Amino acid sequence: MSLKERDKKHLWHPLRQHHLNPESIAITKAKDCILTDEDGNEYIDAISSWYTCMYGHCNDYIVEATYRQMQQLDHVMFSDFTHEPAVKLSEELIKILPHNQNKIYFNDNGSTAVEAGIKMALQYYFNKGEKRTLFMAFENGFHGDTFGAMSVSGLSVYNGPFEDFLIDVKRIPTPDGKNHHEILKILETFTSNYKIAGFIYEPLIQGAAGMKTHDAKGLNKILDFFKSHDILTIADEVMTGFGKTGKYFASDYIETKPDIMCFSKALTAGLLPMAITSCTQDIYKGFLSDNVGDGFFHCHTYSANPVACATAIAGIELLTSKEIQSNIKRIEKSHELFRMKVNHHSNVKSTRHLGVIFALDLNIAMARYGDLRDKLLKFFMDRGVFLRPLGNTIYIQVPYVISEEQLQKVYKVIEEALEIV
Ligand SMILES: *Cc1c(COP(=O)(O)O)cnc(C)c1O
Repeated sequence: MSLKERDKKHLWHPLRQHHLNPESIAITKAKDCILTDEDGNEYIDAISSWYTCMYGHCNDYIVEATYRQMQQLDHVMFSDFTHEPAVKLSEELIKILPHNQNKIYFNDNGSTAVEAGIKMALQYYFNKGEKRTLFMAFENGFHGDTFGAMSVSGLSVYNGPFEDFLIDVKRIPTPDGKNHHEILKILETFTSNYKIAGFIYEPLIQGAAGMKTHDAKGLNKILDFFKSHDILTIADEVMTGFGKTGKYFASDYIETKPDIMCFSKALTAGLLPMAITSCTQDIYKGFLSDNVGDGFFHCHTYSANPVACATAIAGIELLTSKEIQSNIKRIEKSHELFRMKVNHHSNVKSTRHLGVIFALDLNIAMARYGDLRDKLLKFFMDRGVFLRPLGNTIYIQVPYVISEEQLQKVYKVIEEALEIV
């Protein structure tokens, strides 16, 4: 029996209505930018397996660093112990993070990195004797699937059955270069009526919303507003972190830096699951006292897994290399040319690009998960490219190691799709 058939017996896939859509594609191998399925078909991984494998699949340098660590120290609890990979990773991260970040806290995935950020903000004020109960966030943001992360997310497809159980959140529109007076007015109203603990945002690009970009200056004004009202800001860089936007972090484009930051996905280069919540010294100091309970009692069993830390260190070594940095610039240039080419196509509503991220919206209405979207995905797969439309948005987020020839093939199948939609 094929893998595809055996899969159906016991497995339950995420983001899937199995009744309508029981089929999975069985992948048996991945190397660099190519996925191979059980029938030997090859696909260019044009979305880096959900924005993770930015240095290519099974990257030899990263695999070797990971394997070396596996032979030295596999795992040890991080509540009583420490180890070289965690210490070294913290040192390497602090070198590239925005200058105000000073403490590194480990989690297992993007959602729990956000969850920890939300809990840090709540306890920071609690420790000061203040009760703050409300969070603010952008409309259509996505921050993960645990309860806190789900609460601050504004995409309703994921939240429906759980809405009665979420923490209190007020939303504002993303800045578009023209609406900042309107946004500041909303902020004034909320801050005078509620005790707000924090504002969480995906800086510059909202990934799950469809790679929607917003205005950096406008975001800066919003962050300044929260700073001046003593409300913590949390940058969710789970998607944007580690080079995707053309800088190490999207927050590098913005003058005002967040108090707390969340990372995962490319942090461990698509090899192992791990996440980090970083924060300023001021936040950390808010948890220091003679009272044990003022500490941060939030923990996951596999915190700071040494093997995952070794993987992350190798990833940062590649990210900061000349070769990867010049690849990112090359991809950005190619995106720019492709964008000019398709921008005026009659089936294209709008286009945008930043770093290795490119997106276009089709001129048609499409459900996020539905027939049309499934057909489009199949169209790309039949032509050897893995692209995963988000509603009517087709986006590219390629590994930094993609060749120019592979990238041109990705563009070509998108152009072919534009002719038939
Ligand atoms: C993917 C994502 C998350 C959730 O991360 P998981 O590892 O899937 O839990 C949170 N925030 C953003 C911006 C993301 O893109």
